[in-house]
Amino acid sequence: MRPERLDRFAALAPVETTLDARRQHGEQTAASDDLYEEIGRRLGVQDYDDHGWSNRVPCVLEKHEHDDRHPAAKWNRRKHVYHCHKCHLTLLGDEIAAALKLRREDFA
Ligand SMILES: [Zn+2]
Repeated sequence: MRPERLDRFAALAPVETTLDARRQHGEQTAASDDLYEEIGRRLGVQDYDDHGWSNRVPCVLEKHEHDDRHPAAKWNRRKHVYHCHKCHLTLLGDEIAAALKLRREDFA
């Protein structure tokens, strides 16, 4: 699963934005929380459950059939994980940020 996942993601963002960012920004900060909130806004999240999972939103990487009426992707602002139940793609915080063209530096 992982090589395919990375291949698909590589088309969207340069590798260093994921690997370096994760290395350099291992600790959680208030600025990071702002980034994670902005990720939710960009995804169109309207609310979160008690575990930090968002309501279902359209997939950020692919146009799936019926995404307008029955989206199946979720974002967890606490775990910093994005998952689409239609393409089974999982992205970590820095990866979904890059896919949305958000730069962690802008939230420092
Ligand atoms: Zn998807």
